Amino acid sequence: MPEKQKLEEKILICKDCGDKFIWTEGEQQFFIDKGLKNIPKRCKSCAAAYKSKLREKHPMHWIKCKKCKKKSEVPFEPKSEDVYCEECFKKEIIKRDEKIAEAGLTLPS
Ligand SMILES: [Zn+2]
Ligand SMILES: [Zn+2]
Repeated sequence: MPEKQKLEEKILICKDCGDKFIWTEGEQQFFIDKGLKNIPKRCKSCAAAYKSKLREKHPMHWIKCKKCKKKSEVPFEPKSEDVYCEECFKKEIIKRDEKIAEAGLTLPS
């Protein structure tokens, strides 16, 4: 097991309201675990407001997953029947990445 990076709370400035907010260790760990690249730019309340605004702009659509046949809500308009729910989509991506790794190739970053 590689040694875990020691995390410390960070103070960030919200892009929208200009207030300082704390980026907690837990949130940073989540960020690292998910392999996210963009550090949070907004405080919690502005992030929530921003998300609901995005949701307004991008109404959710119901799709039926091609794989598990479950109904799922997605933030885009499905162009075809060939659509996965978020869960299956993630699995497909992992599978694809594994295949690429097996072939000794690397993904462009
Ligand atoms: Zn804010
Ligand atoms: Zn599915």
